[in-house]
Amino acid sequence: MTDCCNGASAACGSEETKACPSCHCPGIPVAHGTVEALVQPELRDGLNGVTYFFCETPTCPVVYYSADGVRVLKQQLRVRVGNKETDDPTPVCYCLGVTERMIHKEIEQTGRSTASARIRAEVRAGNCRCEVENPSGRCCLGEVLQAEKQTDQVTR
Ligand SMILES: [Zn+2]
Repeated sequence: MTDCCNGASAACGSEETKACPSCHCPGIPVAHGTVEALVQPELRDGLNGVTYFFCETPTCPVVYYSADGVRVLKQQLRVRVGNKETDDPTPVCYCLGVTERMIHKEIEQTGRSTASARIRAEVRAGNCRCEVENPSGRCCLGEVLQAEKQTDQVTR
C-alpha cells in the first residue's frame, strides 16, 4: 500500500533527498518499479542503483538518478515527462492519458473540465496507476487540478 493519491507531500528536503547530479536540485525518491516501468526496455538491465530519485527541474535533462551514479535522461524514457516538456502534448495524467491541451479544450468548449472528476472516480475504482505511469511516481491529481485552475483563470 502506498500513499499515492492521498495527498502525500513530496519528500523534498528530507534526509533521504539527494541532489540531482546535473542541476543540483533535490529530487524526490521514487520506487524502483516506477523507474523500471518507464525506461526503455533495453535500458532496464543497467538499472542497478539502490535508491532512485526523480528530478523535477523542468530544464534538467536528468529524470532519474541514483546515489551510486546511475543517470536516466528524459530521452531514455518511453513516455514524455510532463514537467520537462514545454510543447504539446504535455501529459498531466499518465493513467488516463490526459494532456494539458485536452483540459484547455474542454474548458474552452464546455466551460469546465471533467478531468479531475474522472481521475477521482478512477482512483476510487482502484484504477490509479500513477506509480507505474507517472514518471514522478506520484498521483497526477495535483497537477491536473493545477492545470484546470490555470486554464480557468486564462479563459475567464
Ligand atoms: Zn536535475
